[in-house]
Amino acid sequence: MPVSILGIPFDANSSYLKGAAQAPPLIREALFSESANLFSEMGVDLGASGNLFDAGDLQLGRSPREDFEEIENSSAALLQQKTPVIFLGGDHSITFPLVKACHGVFPDLSIVHFDAHPDLYPEYEGNRYSHACPFARIMENQLVRGLVQIGIRSINAVQQEQIQRYRVKVFPMKYGVPGVAGRPGFKLEGPVYLSFDIDALDPAFVPGISHWEPGGMSVRDALASLQALDIRIVAADIVEFNPVRDNTGRTAMVCAKLLKEIAGKMLSTASA
Ligand code: MN
Ligand code: MN
Repeated sequence: MPVSILGIPFDANSSYLKGAAQAPPLIREALFSESANLFSEMGVDLGASGNLFDAGDLQLGRSPREDFEEIENSSAALLQQKTPVIFLGGDHSITFPLVKACHGVFPDLSIVHFDAHPDLYPEYEGNRYSHACPFARIMENQLVRGLVQIGIRSINAVQQEQIQRYRVKVFPMKYGVPGVAGRPGFKLEGPVYLSFDIDALDPAFVPGISHWEPGGMSVRDALASLQALDIRIVAADIVEFNPVRDNTGRTAMVCAKLLKEIAGKMLSTASA
């Protein structure tokens, strides 16, 4: 049973800088770069026959509304095959149509969300579908049983209210990363959607992001936290990589590394 990857070149809902739409082919290029092999640290070989299926990139660029429909329909078609999928963004707004599709296949879904930001604004600069809003849309539509957020370090009053309204379980970055360096992890029942905004990491590790929020986690802590997750991940996204700011290709390699570890986790925990 392979892990599928699908690129979603969409950044129309970015509030500050465009560029994330250029990310999917660069993540793929880093993944298959001859500078590294295709083993996850957990020992899974993504290069082995039948372990990875590349579903290509979506053709987008109509209106944001039509693009969201295309994202939802195309991802639903892949998810209905009941094999794990990793979506390559794109800005974080795509997580709303993706989780909508995933909810249709896994109604008892929960979310684990790595990010510097809660992305829970009711609306942002007049846009309810902004990349600052996807988790507000997901929670108000009751698409998941629970939302766990890791790496958060930018909570303001509006978002604090939303955290309480939707009973979001937040692990603020100031207390460290769950499952790492002796910090307790957490348990979640049922299938999980993993949403990984690359700006959860410290900008020192990932210059290629639109919102540099200092004080983030290291790549090592992110990997260790992923490896410690005792959950079944049925779908994941890697979002907010902005190649416009990634002069040396460093951020693309970090995305590829995370992809390998998430795919390895999916392959080792997928139910038959
Ligand atoms: Mn973010
Ligand atoms: Mn985000």
